Amino acid sequence: MAESKSSRRVAQSEDLSNVEFETSEDVEVVPTFDNMGLREELLRGIYAYGFEKPSAIQQRSIKPIMKGRDVIAQAQSGTGKTATFSISILQSLDTTVRETQVLVLSPTRELAVQIQKVILALGDFMNVQCHACIGGTNLGEDIRKLDYGQHVVSGTPGRVFDMIKRRVLRTRAIKMLVLDESDEMLNKGFKEQIYDVYRYLPPATQVVLVSATLPHEILEMTSKFMTDPIRILVKRDELTLEGIKQFFVAVEREEWKFDTLCDLYDTLTITQAVIFCNTKRKVDWLSDKMREANFTVCSMHGDMPQKERDNIMKEFRSGQSRVLITTDVWARGIDVQQVSLVINYDLPNNRELYIHRIGRSGRFGRKGVSINFVKTDDIRILRDIEQYYSTQIDEMPMNVADLI
Ligand code: ADP
Repeated sequence: MAESKSSRRVAQSEDLSNVEFETSEDVEVVPTFDNMGLREELLRGIYAYGFEKPSAIQQRSIKPIMKGRDVIAQAQSGTGKTATFSISILQSLDTTVRETQVLVLSPTRELAVQIQKVILALGDFMNVQCHACIGGTNLGEDIRKLDYGQHVVSGTPGRVFDMIKRRVLRTRAIKMLVLDESDEMLNKGFKEQIYDVYRYLPPATQVVLVSATLPHEILEMTSKFMTDPIRILVKRDELTLEGIKQFFVAVEREEWKFDTLCDLYDTLTITQAVIFCNTKRKVDWLSDKMREANFTVCSMHGDMPQKERDNIMKEFRSGQSRVLITTDVWARGIDVQQVSLVINYDLPNNRELYIHRIGRSGRFGRKGVSINFVKTDDIRILRDIEQYYSTQIDEMPMNVADLI
């Protein structure tokens, strides 16, 4: 039974991406970090960060990237992709020259900053300079940091291109370009900007592409950018809803959702909770309404100034705030380990977003609970998600707090 379920899931994921994609035959699986041939001080950083064993994508991708091959790594959020390329990047650096050697491009500012943090943390014993070059921050500060010299630049395409054009970000020593969440970058219309950046890089630059799905546009991009790429696919069923108890609350009308949420507030604050709405306006509206009713919440979406977004993330990460209301800006890639409860105040608009929102809390065997607010006409969508992921979404029990 379990087997047929998982094979069905895989088949569906291939349908979704529309592209025939299999892991290249020559991909070796390296089961431990010790056997990867990593430098001593990096290995120390990895263990100090708390990693013991490489994840599936890490076991397969780190070595080929280290060897200088162009790599396409496809895996869902939460499978360890960021750490995969961060480790590979750190291994490739020559820290005795303070020039930019690796450029990482991401679709959102939060991701770019998170990548910077992971690189700095894993590279804690390596004396590495890594700068987050993102929009919405002080230009002068960016220029100063880049002038000082950065081994790695992790940024969003617009600001990075701007810095390259101004010749503040010098590209002559760049040997690797990483495109993170490439499918999402295409969605956001960054394609031209990526091409623009790419044109400034030395011709021999190694390209590593990380993506959750492989739409045709990505494939097209790979043929333009990449030389004989190795393909590594970690299948959908490795991103799991397993261990996550999923529930729904039926509400007849939209207005009832608010009272339902208020009733659940004590449950939300047991650990930490994220509440997803489908629009920025709704996030603002709901946060205001919760505050008016004397509930403490924080909220974040893409229209807020960068500084504010940073502060909110910081507060939430540190546990100072416990309930975060947000849009899908948050769902991709941003990682907060403590989150054990996710509420879909609005059901997501597609199945991919569902797993991005909910799947977060189940990573690396973590348990979690998700609660979906569904209006009568949403039930169909919920059943579709349930069927698609071969999972079970039950009506929320009274004792849901005991399950968190
Ligand atoms: P992705 O980029 O695919 O979303 P991340 O690299 O952010 O995934 O990893 C998801 C979470 O799992 C992070 O909290 C990260 O620290 C943790 N993680 C990654 N690799 C490992 C590992 N080998 N062992 C333990 N935890 C890991």
